[in-house]
Amino acid sequence: MLKKVLIANRGEIACRVIRTCHRLGVATVAVYSDADRDALHVSLAGEAVHIGASPAAESYLRGDIIIEAARKTGADSIHPGYGFLSENPDFAEAVASAGLRFIGPSPKAIRAMGLKDAAKALMEKAGVPVVPGYHGSNQAPDFLQAEAERIGFPILIKARAGGGGKGMRRVEDAAGFKEALASAQREAQAAFGDAACLIEKYITHPRHIEIQVFGDDHGNVVHLFERDCSAQRRHQKVIEEAPAPGMPEEMRRAMGEAAVKAAEAISYSGAGTIEFIADASEGLKADRFWFMEMNTRLQVEHPVTEAITGVDLVEWQLRVASGEPLPKRQDELSIHGWAFEARLYAEDAERGFLPATGTLTHLDLPETSARVDSGVRSGDHISPFYDPMIAKIITHGPDRATALSRLSNALREVRTTGVTTNAAFLRRLTMQADFAQGRPDTGLIDRHLAELTMVHAAPPEAIALAALAFAGALRLETSADPWASLSGFRLWSDAADFVELQHRGEHIPVSFSAEGDGQYAVTIENKIRHLRLSRSADTYSLEIDGLSHRLHAVSDDETITVFQGGENWQFGLIDPLAGDDEAAGGGDRVIAPMPGLVKLLRAVPGAIVTKGETLAVMEAMKMELTLAAPRDGKIADVLVAEGEQVAEGTVLLVLEPSAESGDA
Ligand code: ADP
Ligand code: ADP
Ligand code: MG
Repeated sequence: MLKKVLIANRGEIACRVIRTCHRLGVATVAVYSDADRDALHVSLAGEAVHIGASPAAESYLRGDIIIEAARKTGADSIHPGYGFLSENPDFAEAVASAGLRFIGPSPKAIRAMGLKDAAKALMEKAGVPVVPGYHGSNQAPDFLQAEAERIGFPILIKARAGGGGKGMRRVEDAAGFKEALASAQREAQAAFGDAACLIEKYITHPRHIEIQVFGDDHGNVVHLFERDCSAQRRHQKVIEEAPAPGMPEEMRRAMGEAAVKAAEAISYSGAGTIEFIADASEGLKADRFWFMEMNTRLQVEHPVTEAITGVDLVEWQLRVASGEPLPKRQDELSIHGWAFEARLYAEDAERGFLPATGTLTHLDLPETSARVDSGVRSGDHISPFYDPMIAKIITHGPDRATALSRLSNALREVRTTGVTTNAAFLRRLTMQADFAQGRPDTGLIDRHLAELTMVHAAPPEAIALAALAFAGALRLETSADPWASLSGFRLWSDAADFVELQHRGEHIPVSFSAEGDGQYAVTIENKIRHLRLSRSADTYSLEIDGLSHRLHAVSDDETITVFQGGENWQFGLIDPLAGDDEAAGGGDRVIAPMPGLVKLLRAVPGAIVTKGETLAVMEAMKMELTLAAPRDGKIADVLVAEGEQVAEGTVLLVLEPSAESGDA
């Protein structure tokens, strides 16, 4: 067995790998950047080495420094996790040259699958069905347009070096082709340094179904069945499950065999995933699935496979890297029950999925009802440098309905303050009718986006609880964790009987009077309601007009967040003395709506701009955001430079005051 593994990664996957290493008695070395000095993965590992500045290019992508860290600490192997260097064949080669074991496939296998066009050609030769399209080397726009017409619209343009959904454009008809190609090539060049694209038939009613494969150094290859990752947004997975709903046994067998054939064609060793696209327009059919790409690493969603097969895939990776044969044969593997994984991200689904950053001042994750793979703790800072994953919530059950309702319940137990998450969005998705009934497809989230991201108005019980807390009617004992030490509630003699709350920019006046014994008469929006408040542990029961509600509340500096049924509302207090700053200057400034990198700046002082014109492009995590001129005008000042990392709320540009806004 390997003796000491260096984990060349961060976040939840580094923590997850460390846990299995320790269970097997293998020592671990973490690496970390400036931003990760106090990160969870650093504290879990036996040793840790600082490898550089916060941007990934200066730390987690520095293969040379990481290999040096392994040498220095006497590690015998490197686990790359996913993302970063995990699919970089030059890194795998350098690791081997340094006399260390790369926990993953050979550089040759990584290279064979690294470019989507070459991988498809190789798979075609091996007899694996591939998505119809053009994946040759001719990149002349006229030629590609002719190919697109031959394939038949709609088609999908993909960057051959692509990943993470970047460089992809769906094209509906011939008229839109050239422009889409040019923009896909530009994005591909910028993201991967390789503009080359391939063209695929856009599969109708597409489902993303992938097969987990595993090989060893002795020529054995098995598959561990499928995962359905059709619940996607912008070609990115949101909730994954295993097995795939509605999968005929014949198709499962055919996909498993095709995946094993694919892995054998490149003498694959270690964990890998063969991604297929299936046409589900008439249900799943054994002759309607096609190879898309292979990911030559452990996949983000590997836990659902672990849940249904009982296999620890990281343990298998370590054993195979130690030269052991696969622990199980194909006929010793079977599917038990059903599993789901939801990706909990720091993002604001209700504001167009803007990445969110900040300090996780409060973090409750489900404790018993789910497996939670997380890389953060309460109090951690979510920085703009890396992907926005907070945790993966994984549930298992004897059947799909049970596993799904466990997921739904587990998501209700997610409570954070300081950083907005997509928990409510995920929970609504678990309850969306088509998804709940096992009919996912890659367009489902987009079709239902409005209901999945709808802002739910704060109900009176949440408003009442926040108002009572702000008024001092709930007795807060310490400032460190006031709610934890709340010993009861009574109306202070000096407590206010009126507060004005602020919620999503709206003012909500609330007045109340205590009626003794936890009872109040509360007036919200001119309506008087009678309520009774009681508390057990960290849950409040609030009976309002005879109906009882269960709520959680967390106070955080100047706000109170109330959680109920998987939704949450954050309230502040209106300070009557503060001026209305936004109304005065808002139209004259372009402000960073998220922390991130200023990727493009199209503005110079003195330039005349028209409303809606792109002035800047920001990038954070996996997302790009275009910032437009708020009105016609002249640029007075440019306060940042291209390439600069800025905080949320930073003023990027200022327009000269217009006649109207001057003294408004
Ligand atoms: P998976 O199918 O395992 O989710 P992804 O292609 O989404 O595969 O990538 C896995 C991880 O790799 C992501 O969660 C992210 O950390 C990283 N990653 C991949 N591509 C990109 C990219 N273009 N930009 C930033 N991170 C990426
Ligand atoms: P990436 O490397 O970014 O993961 P993939 O080739 O795996 O790129 O495609 C990402 C997603 O795009 C798929 O999961 C699927 O939802 C969608 N997609 C890819 N190819 C097709 C296709 N030919 N038809 C329809 N949807 C597709
Ligand atoms: Mg993919």
